[in-house]
Amino acid sequence: MKILSGSKVYLIYHSEVQSGLLDYLQETQKFWGTVHREDMTPGPLGPEESQERFPEWVVAYPGDSAPEFSGRICYDSFRGPGAIGSPGRKSNEEYLEHIKITGHGSVMEHPVATFIFCGCSRGLTHELVRHRAGWAYSQSSTRYCDGELLNVVMPPLIDQMFYLAETDADRDKVKEASTEFAGAYEEGRAIYTKCFKTLYGLADKILTPHYKGKGDKTTLRKMVRSAARSLLPIGTEAPIVVSANYRAWRHFFTMRATEAAELEIRAVALQVFDRLTLRAPNLLGDFTKHQLRDGTYALKTDYTKV
Ligand SMILES: Cc1cc2nc3c(=O)[nH]c(=O)nc-3n(C[C@H](O)[C@H](O)[C@H](O)COP(=O)(O)OP(=O)(O)OC[C@H]3O[C@@H](n4cnc5c(N)ncnc54)[C@H](O)[C@@H]3O)c2cc1C
Repeated sequence: MKILSGSKVYLIYHSEVQSGLLDYLQETQKFWGTVHREDMTPGPLGPEESQERFPEWVVAYPGDSAPEFSGRICYDSFRGPGAIGSPGRKSNEEYLEHIKITGHGSVMEHPVATFIFCGCSRGLTHELVRHRAGWAYSQSSTRYCDGELLNVVMPPLIDQMFYLAETDADRDKVKEASTEFAGAYEEGRAIYTKCFKTLYGLADKILTPHYKGKGDKTTLRKMVRSAARSLLPIGTEAPIVVSANYRAWRHFFTMRATEAAELEIRAVALQVFDRLTLRAPNLLGDFTKHQLRDGTYALKTDYTKV
């Protein structure tokens, strides 16, 4: 068992533009506002006969381009002989600003990003999974994974107090509290291990005859871990794969990256924001980051629900 300090998020999948978008524009004879032939640099993408490709921003910022393209489909606001709506003249930034003002955020549901969150507690993931619309989760199981080996997470309050403490004496006290907390984790794990062994010994004797041929030892271990996990703390590390669309991520930032949000989940939200803003600088451009007294950061926006 390791005692972890600080979560880490990894972006593992992300929506990206496909050559079919260019095929669609060519076949329907539509030019897409800022994406029209003059902007395109030559070079094949997809079929060899296609001697055009997307402007770089469409590829680089799929979180910005997918909502704009999807929104333009609604009113056919393209240029060219194949378009029947009024041609769109807004830049991508202006287009997405308009979406935020009008609250027509459903177009932001097209791009999706998947992360794995590590070093975060089960307490954090319990808050996280309350976010439902547009989310998918896969989390490590305390029934299957060996509880003796699971890591635990040091609450960020310790770092916060260390940062804000004004005297060496107070910093020493925070260090002592941290050691005490780590000790409690160790003691708790020892109790878990002891109880697991007791329960497993009993279950092997009493239950095995009833579960013969049904995975035997694996089934037994799972049953006993299910009972013993009641003794695992809510600070147990719970790696979780998290997918959400950009509209859902935006809502997550407004709820979990503000000053009022709990420290651990806010730190995760900020890390996700930093990664996604590189792929959707306009869609997330209304969020501003500000530093708080404790040295950590929070986000603010005028568009809380799009
Ligand atoms: C600071 C803070 C403190 C909190 N404290 C508590 C607490 O003490 N106890 C507690 O239980 N929870 C607490 N929560 C969790 C909170 O109540 C929400 O469950 C969580 O933030 C998810 O928000 P959501 O439902 O808006 O998100 P999502 O489930 O992702 O939903 C997004 C939006 O979709 C719409 N929507 C989703 N589902 C439905 C539906 N079924 N019907 C209609 N509209 C829907 C709503 O507009 C909703 O805002 C807290 C959250 C925060 C940020």
